[in-house]
Amino acid sequence: LTNYRGRPVVVLGLARSGVAAAKLFHGVGAHVVVNDKKERDQCPEADELAALGISVVCGHHPDGLVTEQTALLVKNPGIPYSAPPIAEALRLGVEVVSEVEVAGLLSPAPIIGITGSNGKTTTTTLTGVLLEAAGLKPLVAGNIGRPLSEAAGEIAEDGWLVAELSSFQLKGTSDFRPRIACLLNIAETHLDYHGTMEDYVGSKAKLFKNQTAEDVAIYNRDDETCRRLAESFNGRAFPFSVTQMLETGVMIVPPYAEIRPTDGEEDEEAERWIVSRDGQGKEQRILRVDELGIPGRHNAANALAAIAIALAAGAEPELLAEPLRAFRGVEHRLEYIGAYGGVKFYNDSKATNPMATTMSILSLPSPLILIAGGLDRGSDYMELLPVFRDRLKGLAAIGETRRKIGRVAELSGLANVKIVEPVEDAEQTLRQAVREAAAMAEPGDIVLLSPACASWDMFPSYEVRGRIFKQSAHTL
Ligand code: ADP
Repeated sequence: LTNYRGRPVVVLGLARSGVAAAKLFHGVGAHVVVNDKKERDQCPEADELAALGISVVCGHHPDGLVTEQTALLVKNPGIPYSAPPIAEALRLGVEVVSEVEVAGLLSPAPIIGITGSNGKTTTTTLTGVLLEAAGLKPLVAGNIGRPLSEAAGEIAEDGWLVAELSSFQLKGTSDFRPRIACLLNIAETHLDYHGTMEDYVGSKAKLFKNQTAEDVAIYNRDDETCRRLAESFNGRAFPFSVTQMLETGVMIVPPYAEIRPTDGEEDEEAERWIVSRDGQGKEQRILRVDELGIPGRHNAANALAAIAIALAAGAEPELLAEPLRAFRGVEHRLEYIGAYGGVKFYNDSKATNPMATTMSILSLPSPLILIAGGLDRGSDYMELLPVFRDRLKGLAAIGETRRKIGRVAELSGLANVKIVEPVEDAEQTLRQAVREAAAMAEPGDIVLLSPACASWDMFPSYEVRGRIFKQSAHTL
């Protein structure tokens, strides 16, 4: 980091991560310029940075911001590579990195990097919980909330920096090297930002690129793209898999955690245990799969991943059962809200792509009444057809994609399809959808909000969408 003393560093994007990076480089004596397209009155952090003596330019990207002398450009993960200052930096051969790269340079503690299309927040949160229970002093940061570089500046040498990483963040890394890396799954999503699937997959693969034989790479063997990527891992690669457990009754995940029925019984009713195996082959039961506090097969995968990470970090297996039973998941991820009139309501507002919605539908008993729809990113949603056909009893479709998703439901043969046209505002529209869904339900049924789409056509965030859903269920 001291290489940057006396040299110009540009920080693009004045969000929390930009502020953390700016302070960091200012602290080592770099000449930092922070720039954001937003007007200054929309950048509350500007004054704080200016008071430290950092130049802050808001309202536009000034000419000459990036020159041949610029030592580094640190970009906010949300800014596209086509933005003028970034395009200019790339043209001049100036290195462009995200704040995650900076965190990697700074952290005195080893890093656990967790990525995937779905399940990142759940797995990252659970990993933090397990490491805490094992006394391994985790600090959880990254895509999940607080900027990774901020956390990297605070963590002690003997802790673990547990990082949730998006493909956007990984794309802007070059030397980033996690001690333990984990790839959960890869769905066709975020293509609007990355342009192509290759670019998206390539960004995820960067998590493993700098690993060596001293490092650990954990990946999902059930996912074809993950399996293919694993062939090029340089770290010690350990697969986990849930499919095998469900199809054959036996699940092997050497050497860290495996799920298997007791004593060779392989029938449906057999108990399935998550078992750890150490380097010497010594096995130890952790807990039964049905004791996990989070529901569904996808969550069993998330739990296996978190357990494998915790064991790789040195956790004692006997300390993991209790936190695994107690962990109830993260808000808006298949969150059970309550039963009203005998109908159970689940809030899965964070399911912003068809893969996530498919997994959630498969995780709950049918018949289900689904509320789905949201921002239109150009997909056709046909991949939802099989679960719609097999598991749904009704659909209330909202948002920009309401007709597309309604059409998939009709093609699947579903009779109960309600396209909820917008009423006065987004909140009222969602409330209307909840009433429509409740009207289709009988006692014993489930109503699930799992939109398969981002929320921004109607709401500022998936959290707002989820909270309005919860309130409307409560007030039914
Ligand atoms: P992310 O942080 O990657 O968006 P979350 O843990 O927040 O993931 O979960 C988001 C949604 O994705 C959940 O509501 C659930 O519907 C779905 N999901 C969670 N884990 C998985 C998984 N392992 N595979 C597929 N879908 C998942």
